[in-house]
Amino acid sequence: MVSRVIPVDPFDLTIFGGTGDLARRKILPGLFRRFRAGQIPEGSQIIGAARTDHTDAEFRDEVKTALEEFVDADKLDDNSVAGFLEMIRYVSIDAKGTKGWSELKEHIRDDHISAFYFSVAPSLFGDLAERLHSNGIADDSTRIVVEKPFGRDLESAKALNATLAEHFDETQIYRIDHYLGKETVQNLMALRFGNVLFEPLWNAQYVDHIQITVAETVGVGGRGEYYDKSGAMRDMVQNHLMQLLCLIAMEPPSQFEPDSVRDEKLKVIRALDPVAPDDIVRGQYEAGKNTDSYHADVEDDESRTESFIAMKLNISNWRWAGTPFYLRTGKRLKARQSEIAVVFKDAPHSIFGAEAGRHRNILTIRLQPNEGMTLGVTIKEPGPGGMRLIDVPLDMTFADALGADNDNVTEAYERLVMDVIRGNQTLFMRGDEVEAAWAWTDPIIERWQDKGDKPCAYDPGSAGPEESAMLLHRENRRWREIKA
Ligand code: NAP
Repeated sequence: MVSRVIPVDPFDLTIFGGTGDLARRKILPGLFRRFRAGQIPEGSQIIGAARTDHTDAEFRDEVKTALEEFVDADKLDDNSVAGFLEMIRYVSIDAKGTKGWSELKEHIRDDHISAFYFSVAPSLFGDLAERLHSNGIADDSTRIVVEKPFGRDLESAKALNATLAEHFDETQIYRIDHYLGKETVQNLMALRFGNVLFEPLWNAQYVDHIQITVAETVGVGGRGEYYDKSGAMRDMVQNHLMQLLCLIAMEPPSQFEPDSVRDEKLKVIRALDPVAPDDIVRGQYEAGKNTDSYHADVEDDESRTESFIAMKLNISNWRWAGTPFYLRTGKRLKARQSEIAVVFKDAPHSIFGAEAGRHRNILTIRLQPNEGMTLGVTIKEPGPGGMRLIDVPLDMTFADALGADNDNVTEAYERLVMDVIRGNQTLFMRGDEVEAAWAWTDPIIERWQDKGDKPCAYDPGSAGPEESAMLLHRENRRWREIKA
């Protein structure tokens, strides 16, 4: 497959929080990969900005260490590393004070695209937005990138949107949900709207139900304090799973343009029914042989925050009425596995008789590991044993299909940052989308607080609490296996 890397225009990208974990693990290694692929033109600048005092040279050393840790060794050739480090600058700046702002202004060039990545705590977003303007650094063409969490409820999300809106137009704000940058997620749109094959079947008449699973093996240790205030509902469902649901369920946009796509996603969120208490199972992991319990990880034996959630959702519109969407996500589960499974209905009549068994087409879209898609189709079992049917996978793993070394196979963050530079907001959340998602989420969370609802316990390394299996069993369905 021929690699086609289209360079972006030269830019100045400032990463507020350039010394932080996200910058080290994701943003800087991602930018390096894009540089190495030839997508970042010479003359661009990447400016790390944080309170710590560093010279350019000291920060370059830090970036080099981060690349050595987070980029595959075979991609770290000396020439590319040296070229990339040449673009790196550092400004010691205080988001809440006066230090560093005039120095930053000197770095930002009028004739280059200028973008500012807010990779800092959300409590600093307002200060950064205000100071970018009061110091004459931002103008109408400036782009800002904001990280999750975008609020912790509708009220705080509205307040955050209002603060950013005081200084920036919606067209300048890029709210990151890195799930939207995954190759498979975008391929979902290509699959649905670039082929005639699936869309006619993509509705309640042919789809029995849809499952979205985001399973993690890690616990919350290390970020327990943050996680315990948020839980799986706020940390995963309100943003990542909701975005996946939107892309699966939305109507075809008239064009692949930011507002056309985001208008359709918003309609899906607005069509979600409130979720009945019986349609939600929350869980909390217990201690394992070598792992601590959730309570130990967050150092609070009374915590009622969920590390697992499973739920059944209904979308009240013509396309989906009657087809449930089952969502589940959790920590310390059996395997790291994220996928969407579209389970089609049985054929209306089996000409093969009862002994042929029950066979269903399932389209599985894998987000991790092995990004790709599998379509389960039913065929005759080979051999002379009569007309016996079996299910076989039509499998496409992107790394195989596109070539694992193809520089166009990018990771989510690097793709999204390049979209910011191109000025394409399609894969970023609009303010009203985020607010609609919180408006749907808030009453569910409030109900848990009101009723003193407690999560069910589950074993680490399992598929979550037994009660979550019941969500589907009671309707004669079953979760797809989380495979270790
Ligand atoms: P982090 O490791 O705590 O880094 C925070 C950064 O902010 C540091 O570079 C810190 O440097 C800088 N900072 C703090 N106060 C500042 C101030 N007053 N002025 C200027 N800089 C300041 O946090 P992180 O994990 O990178 O996360 C950054 C953001 O991304 C957060 O909103 C987080 O929720 C979000 N996020 C992170 C991840 C992840 O995997 N890490 C994933 C999703 C979302 P100094 O102390 O030197 O100032």
